[in-house]
Amino acid sequence: MPTGVKAEVRTYQMLIEGEWVESASKKTFPVYDPSTEEVIAQVPDANKEDVDRAVAAARKAFESGWGQTTAQERGRILFRLAERVRKESAMLAELESRNSGKPIVEAEFDIADVATCFEYYGGLATKILGYVNPVPDNALSLTLKEPIGVAGQIIPWNYPLLMGAWKLAPALAAGCTCVLKPAEQTPLTVLEMANWFSDIGLPPGVVNIVTGFGETAGAPLVQHPEVNKIAFTGSAAVGKAIVKMAADTVKRVTLELGGKSPNIFFADADFEAAIDGALFGVFINQGEVCSAGSRILVQRSIYPKFVEAMSEKAKKIKLGNPLERETKMGPLVSKEQFDRVRSYQEAGKKEAKLAAGGGRAEKFSRGFYVEPTIFYDVSNSAKIAREEIFGPVASVIPFENESDAVKIANDSPYGLAAAVWTRDIFKAMRAVKALRAGIVWVNHMQPTYVEAPWGGYKQSGFGRELGPWGIEEYLETKQVHINLNEQPIGWY
Ligand code: NDP
Repeated sequence: MPTGVKAEVRTYQMLIEGEWVESASKKTFPVYDPSTEEVIAQVPDANKEDVDRAVAAARKAFESGWGQTTAQERGRILFRLAERVRKESAMLAELESRNSGKPIVEAEFDIADVATCFEYYGGLATKILGYVNPVPDNALSLTLKEPIGVAGQIIPWNYPLLMGAWKLAPALAAGCTCVLKPAEQTPLTVLEMANWFSDIGLPPGVVNIVTGFGETAGAPLVQHPEVNKIAFTGSAAVGKAIVKMAADTVKRVTLELGGKSPNIFFADADFEAAIDGALFGVFINQGEVCSAGSRILVQRSIYPKFVEAMSEKAKKIKLGNPLERETKMGPLVSKEQFDRVRSYQEAGKKEAKLAAGGGRAEKFSRGFYVEPTIFYDVSNSAKIAREEIFGPVASVIPFENESDAVKIANDSPYGLAAAVWTRDIFKAMRAVKALRAGIVWVNHMQPTYVEAPWGGYKQSGFGRELGPWGIEEYLETKQVHINLNEQPIGWY
């Protein structure tokens, strides 16, 4: 759509038991385009009553057959979903970009990854294997893998459809049924995708989408006694609350939480590649990335040159309408996130030196745009170095030597990701072993693949998504012991 043309405000319904429905209260809430601040849609404001209906539908679908469908059939459904996502990828990418503010080119990569995720788990559905356990008796001991049951899935706004795929694909492959709650800011692409569920043969109730707010729709889902597992991606604060809420019903919980990831540059790294890697690590997706390399650790001997080169390039990053292909950074997702990032920019000015940005992007008269911001001479104990900002704000921290770098890097409550840049393989591998993080990149930062595990150490969460690790989180393990002796036990 050309810039300046006002989009139609569409009213969506949500999906429960294969039916498009309003919320029980009939209330809706607005969804925005963060580049114009205009309302682009209204979606149902679900509460406990709606969540109860969705969970009942998911339970019914699980008991009445989905849990017993053949792995081949589940796999084929996922392949059909992937095919449909690929066919409609242009529409999905444009909607994702408009609703979240992410540049269209990045949204296109996300949607391709969504399809790949469904394809991967479509294939994995037929590779869920059991074991024969070598017990020391005249018996056959088997291990069976069975679906956990009903999964409640709560996702954030930074990769809306991709986070949906990361949750739905392994759950469906495992034979679980789902109630998915998208983030209040970005429910639209998931709702569009749900339009195709009946066409691809997904029985009603297997996936239910409930739109609403965390406290009124998310919390009842977590507390519901008929939900067997909660898969959550979001902030550490909400993750902690979820663990407490889930305790009463002893639910399985997996948490993908935030980070304050170190991106470490040794003096011997390729300088051009390093500058690019530092910028990409922290500014991709407007910095709204859980694994953002927001603590940039640079060896003292290259530190001044590094700060200068990085800042010069950061000042040239093209901010703009997310739907334009040259745009490298769009607006932040919401007014709330804009205010939050702005407050960290101001906090940074009091505790460090400013090398680039530091404020609202003034050339835009509307939209939640902030400047890519770089602080240097940041102490690792500063607020901007300890707290997750979830926006384009980088803290550059000097270090002296290898042990100093690892010490600073590990001095964080988080442990989601880390990266290390050097041409010395020994130094790289020593750092890989020493860093306490769920992923360590060497001479890169951010690539994520459905074939490889994703998740955090420490307060970045527990459990793993993607690859075979992701499907395990939706499976129970049952042991079957078959006695091969025909005589009585003979104990009494
Ligand atoms: P939030 O934790 O605020 O929200 C995440 C989801 O949880 C939303 O759907 C939200 O609903 C819901 N929620 C909020 N409160 C509750 C509650 N009391 N009970 C149940 N559900 C609730 O995170 P953001 O949406 O702000 O996303 C940003 C955060 O997510 C960052 O901290 C980031 O690091 C993290 N993240 C982590 C990733 C990872 O893989 N480790 C990936 C992406 C993001 P509502 O719609 O009301 O907001």
